[in-house]
Amino acid sequence: MGILQSEIKKIIRNLDNISFEDRVVLVTGGAGFLGSWICDVLVGQGAKVICMDNLTSGLESNISHLKDRENFKFVRHNVSSFLKLGEEKIDLIMHLASRASPLEFDKYPIEIIKANTLGTMNMLELARKYKARFLFTSTSEIYGDAKVVPTPETYNGNVNPIGVRGCYDESKRCGEALCMAYLRQYDVDVRIARIFNTYGPRMRADGVYGRVIPRFIAQALNNEPITIFGDGKQTRSFCYVTDQIEGLLRLAWFNECKGEVVNIGNPNEITILKLAEIVKKITNSNSEITFCPPMPDDPRRRCPDITKAKTLLNWTPKVELEDGLKKTVELLGRWHN
Ligand code: UDP
Repeated sequence: MGILQSEIKKIIRNLDNISFEDRVVLVTGGAGFLGSWICDVLVGQGAKVICMDNLTSGLESNISHLKDRENFKFVRHNVSSFLKLGEEKIDLIMHLASRASPLEFDKYPIEIIKANTLGTMNMLELARKYKARFLFTSTSEIYGDAKVVPTPETYNGNVNPIGVRGCYDESKRCGEALCMAYLRQYDVDVRIARIFNTYGPRMRADGVYGRVIPRFIAQALNNEPITIFGDGKQTRSFCYVTDQIEGLLRLAWFNECKGEVVNIGNPNEITILKLAEIVKKITNSNSEITFCPPMPDDPRRRCPDITKAKTLLNWTPKVELEDGLKKTVELLGRWHN
């Protein structure tokens, strides 16, 4: 817990005067990668946190250290079915529940669609009932294979609805539309984060279904081939988790963000081949880099335009890729030894 605790304290420091102390916050997907970081920061600030997760992709171990805290409560529940909560008050709902790994899109497409459509609607109904603020975690995937890069929020996307990524991209797009519908029809105070690739400790490191960074790290540490899908010239822009969590909490905080959609990510764009080389270098690995068949509809370039986040949230990502990767290797590495 040592490194993680100091990372969480750093986020709280970077948030300056933003504090959710005494607010009641429901975090869906709270046992997942990003959700558990949010729970940690909010519990640390003295908020009353209700963490909801059905533990299908989230891990109990991500939140087990919080279970005895009096300002933390865990509710095991699938957001896709409605649940009447007995709480007297909820001030904020942060809706993160959904699988997000492309390697799972052909295995769990219906669960993914449900979490982002039915699940979002159920949580919006709760927000309406409790007059709570609502933050929806959308994704850069709603831009699909973007033709405008760096991509601003005003770009409407280039998505294949019937491709294997359609279950995620289209259900997140529908989730965004639902948020705006609840704003327009019921005046629910919604805000939408479009999260770009984020990495760090607590990402699932179970290999087969994981995202590129934990997969490359595990492969490198085990001296197994590093698997590049396609030619490796496709790009991503990787945001370290502490920067991402700070951005999300800023978006949840400011009154002026009602009805706003904001890209949150790191604009430092690199190729996947370059990422493989960096991971190989910092792990001192002998792994060979191998080229495998490309993923269908894999976006060629992805990089956020974060002008809006900078001005609206007074936020900018601070952690350099190599520094973030070293911390990630240190923590994920322990699981592989
Ligand atoms: N990727 C890869 N090898 C892997 C896993 C992923 O080359 O073992 C590539 C993938 O094709 C994509 C990028 O890495 O171009 C990022 O993949 P990830 O699954 O992390 O998320 P995405 O950004 O596609 O949603």
